[in-house]
Amino acid sequence: MSDQQSAPLGTSPPETPRFPCLHVSRHPLVRHKLTLIADVWTDSKLFRELVREVTALLLYEATTDLAEEAVTFRTPLEERTGSRIASRIGFVPILRAGLGMVDAALVTLPRSEVWHLGMYRDETTHRPVSYYNKLPARCPDDLVIVLDPMLATGGSASDATTALKAWGANRIKFVGLMAAPEGVARMEQDHPDVQLYVGSLERQLDDRFYIRPGLGDAGDRLFGTS
Ligand code: URA
Repeated sequence: MSDQQSAPLGTSPPETPRFPCLHVSRHPLVRHKLTLIADVWTDSKLFRELVREVTALLLYEATTDLAEEAVTFRTPLEERTGSRIASRIGFVPILRAGLGMVDAALVTLPRSEVWHLGMYRDETTHRPVSYYNKLPARCPDDLVIVLDPMLATGGSASDATTALKAWGANRIKFVGLMAAPEGVARMEQDHPDVQLYVGSLERQLDDRFYIRPGLGDAGDRLFGTS
């Protein structure tokens, strides 16, 4: 562990390389809620609620470039034109912690699909291992959004992205609560075409591959299993 000071949420730690694919939210609501999420005294119930709220805000930021199409409809007074989302969107939560982001994703984009791809970190090698893949034969989506609260080593996100590209996903984004510089660097090296949207860029990974200062184990905190 380094004794470097932590940067405030939503700012970059000193001497962090600039990451062209990384979007760190600067929204005060995200910073406020992420502070509560990271607090050790926040229990699982509140943690889950806050994860949902921050996910919705981050998805709002990650979807500003969605394709729209014009529609004509009637108001109670007259005919007019409006807009609707023209893209088909799929979410891929990285199990297990990514599940905590799914409800908010479906509230934000209710006509989306959720595809399941399970990966875990091997305790010895620290390499991601895929143990469940329930994707249909062909990718039907214009945009696939990978959900994982913590972009730590970047191994799971990178492997999931590789699997999604092999499946035919040609536009992929990543949305997470917190990222370590090491995970962002890994994603930018392996998948420079994937834009990353996070609530905070943290200082570093520790020697147990936890994000510091971070929020601890997101899955344990979501599901009360610590
Ligand atoms: N996954 C977590 O849940 N927390 C970390 O700090 C790193 C990976």
